[in-house]
Amino acid sequence: MKKDCIFCKIVAGELPAYKVYEDQNILAFLDINPINPGHTLVVSKVHSENIADTTEATFVDLIKVIKKIYPAVLNGVGAADANLTINSGELAGQAVLHLHFHIIPRFAGDGHKLWTGKSYASSEVESIVQNIKNFIDSD
Ligand code: 5GP
Ligand code: ZN
Repeated sequence: MKKDCIFCKIVAGELPAYKVYEDQNILAFLDINPINPGHTLVVSKVHSENIADTTEATFVDLIKVIKKIYPAVLNGVGAADANLTINSGELAGQAVLHLHFHIIPRFAGDGHKLWTGKSYASSEVESIVQNIKNFIDSD
């Protein structure tokens, strides 16, 4: 548990939350300021800040729980679609520095906007691909 981390406090029961799922490693609860009804946050009980500093085992646990509860979250609010996102890092909009997935049920006309795409200059795209490949661990 990290001192002053809101989600660690929810995990520890020191702050209230509307919990929808809990097991030994993972907790899912409703977002306090939902984009839409049923907006659910899925966190590991062990604190990590982001995807870079979490363990593979923790990340797998998160994904397994998301796979398990995703249909229930949508069915529970009568949604057919959802956005599943992580805001990773402050520039990406991460406000709570405890790794979490958002499951955001979507409804027709809910007004939630996605990003608008840019395009690559052909001169840069090959080097970006090569740079990314160079940084991928080959273990
Ligand atoms: P982030 O921007 O870090 O990806 O998302 C953090 C989310 O946590 C926000 O959607 C925000 O509404 C939610 N949140 C912040 N504080 C609390 C809290 O105390 N309880 C709950 N249930 N959600 C919170
Ligand atoms: Zn935490």
